[in-house]
Amino acid sequence: MHYDLHCHSTCSDGLLSPAGVVKRAAARGVDVLALTDHDELAGLGEARAAAREAGITLIDGSELSVSWHDDTVHIVALGIDPDNAELAGGLESIRNGRDARARRIGAALADAGIPDAFEGALTYVTSERLISRTHFARHLVDSGRARDMKDAFRHFLTPGKPGYVSHVWASLSQVVGWIHQAGGQAVIAHPGRYKVSSAQLRTLIGEFRDLGGDAIEVVSPSHTPAQYVEFAAIARAFALKASCGSDFHGPGESRMDFGDLPPLPAGVDPVWSAW
Ligand code: AMP
Ligand code: MN
Ligand code: MN
Ligand code: MN
Repeated sequence: MHYDLHCHSTCSDGLLSPAGVVKRAAARGVDVLALTDHDELAGLGEARAAAREAGITLIDGSELSVSWHDDTVHIVALGIDPDNAELAGGLESIRNGRDARARRIGAALADAGIPDAFEGALTYVTSERLISRTHFARHLVDSGRARDMKDAFRHFLTPGKPGYVSHVWASLSQVVGWIHQAGGQAVIAHPGRYKVSSAQLRTLIGEFRDLGGDAIEVVSPSHTPAQYVEFAAIARAFALKASCGSDFHGPGESRMDFGDLPPLPAGVDPVWSAW
């Protein structure tokens, strides 16, 4: 069985519709797919219908934005009840902060000599419910301010760069609580991507585990093969399960496509072991 438990659609910052995501995943050999749009569940109905049509299993998911000290951390939710009111309310509260944040990003870029960034980003938004840095990055690339998405983030949208603004998302304990109230599992997304020391990363993982967190992503395009081994060992050491996901955002825009994920390293407990 091929599991891919992290990807995005046009309901957040992906390029394909929820049905398009599911069809592509099925065509490329994924058997069990979680759609995990940022702070959003709105694509799950369409994805579920498409999964039934394609004969694959859809896991109801989301990727929640968390502020942990001065850093942003992403927590993937898997197997949640999309009708759970606490989770839906929590996600709405996270999304609601995005519009004002995007205006601040636009103002910061205007100060840096790019006057049209907010309006430009809006033309890339595919859900009126959600604007993200990805939409700014697409505009910066297509208007010739950056070579590619990576370049746009590196020069404009990451901490210390002109279009980066700090923002307070939900707390780790809130997010783990909402996910569990909705009957799901909480997974630390791409732990290798956070710009923290290895001691801080262990503190984060320990706090997450103590809050009842369930798993960490071990196999992710944000990780090197050496990190697959490293995070497999951390999962075992912290008695957390292990997950894997392509974090697919769209053809030509993602490091890994559906079907490209290598298997989890041996000796970990897969997040799906009790499904
Ligand atoms: P936001 O939730 O608005 O802060 O946007 C976060 C999203 O930006 C991530 O989910 C990625 O899709 C995208 N992103 C962050 N860093 C990079 C990068 N270096 N290259 C490409 N995309 C990135
Ligand atoms: Mn994204
Ligand atoms: Mn993420
Ligand atoms: Mn993601």
